[in-house]
Amino acid sequence: MALLVMKFGGSSVADAEAMRRVAQRVVSAHRAGDRVAVVVSAMGDTTDDLLDLAGQIASGTPPEREMDMLLSAGERISMALLAMAIEQLGVPARSYTGAQAGMRTDTAHGRARLLDVQPDRVRRTLEDGAVAIVAGFQGISTDDDITTLGRGGSDTTAVALAAALGADVCEIYTDVDGLYTADPRIVPSARRVTRITIEETLEMAAHGAKILHLRAVEYARRFQVPLHVRSSFSDQEGTWILVGRPLTEDTMEEPIISGIAHDKSLGKVTAVGVPDRPGAAAAVIGAVSEAGVSIDMIVQNVSTSNAETSDISFTLPETDGQTAVAAVRALQEQMGFSDVLYTSHVGKLSLVGAGMRSNPSVASRLFSALADAGVNIEMISTSEIRISVICDQTDLEAGVRAVHTAFDLDAEVEAVVYGGTGR
Ligand code: ASP
Ligand code: MG
Repeated sequence: MALLVMKFGGSSVADAEAMRRVAQRVVSAHRAGDRVAVVVSAMGDTTDDLLDLAGQIASGTPPEREMDMLLSAGERISMALLAMAIEQLGVPARSYTGAQAGMRTDTAHGRARLLDVQPDRVRRTLEDGAVAIVAGFQGISTDDDITTLGRGGSDTTAVALAAALGADVCEIYTDVDGLYTADPRIVPSARRVTRITIEETLEMAAHGAKILHLRAVEYARRFQVPLHVRSSFSDQEGTWILVGRPLTEDTMEEPIISGIAHDKSLGKVTAVGVPDRPGAAAAVIGAVSEAGVSIDMIVQNVSTSNAETSDISFTLPETDGQTAVAAVRALQEQMGFSDVLYTSHVGKLSLVGAGMRSNPSVASRLFSALADAGVNIEMISTSEIRISVICDQTDLEAGVRAVHTAFDLDAEVEAVVYGGTGR
């Protein structure tokens, strides 16, 4: 008998029919003898619709506390309807809000972080032989106010619940069959990854792969929760995300490259002619981080025209471009650098795979593939299990396809895309 946490994204519970399909799946697992706790997202576009409504009522920024109260309602609708659908099939089910499920958070409305998870009621429900359903994406703050965890936060709820219950696996049901070697909408010959380590998944998620909420993957790594990402529209096995990859016979055959992530929504800021002295980078990057912008890649090069200065470039989410430029400009006069440049429409391609370090040919193969595809590389950064390059956004898709082929990742058959969003 296993203890499962099954998480269903918005597209998996979009309407009554989808809800019944999910209920069937939950009931099958329950009848097979497993104890099942379910985490649900809001139905379809409910969260966006609620955001729109709030925008129509409140001009400017609506009060954060009320926003969270409003948005948390989306998941409550799903959980109650799913409980009813499961009861219809003859299995007892009880739904719980995040607060009832013991999801204690800090007080940061709209982006609350979990502080403590005590799912006693969920545990008791499972012991009673019933299915427990928990509203994703929400909790209750240390001030006893309802909070939400940020967009896509239901994945985090599911992983946190799985960790607290000591579940055998956290199954993430979505509208794609799992993790692919590249986005199948760009690379039709992308392959489903059968097994991947949590570290590789973290790199994929952090560098643009949209399948899992980054925080959920971080949480899963910290608490060693095995994940199984799969489609709620088919019975096929999806992708197993494991804590450490056992070298069995079939995994030994797998390529050391797990996949290619890409991110189209970056911008690049360059401080030009920064005096080359200790503290320069600290000042520039410090100012940006103080403005609340998270920086992605940083490159500093000694400029050739004047060896006394260097250029500092960094990439960041495109939406934070203007904030970062303003923060750097504010330093310009005092530090005496010559200019601040901003480029939008910057793309990033990341090749991820365990064992990359020990294989220097990987980098040269990557760069040759990009060169053959006519993609100019603007910046490069590496980690133990990833190589990322920055290029023009318009070159990105061609680059991803070229690299996918160069690393023999192409499958014979086209990937199945259900037309969803991967949520
Ligand atoms: N309903 C929330 C959202 O759309 C949370 C989630 O789906 O994970 O962001
Ligand atoms: Mg959603």
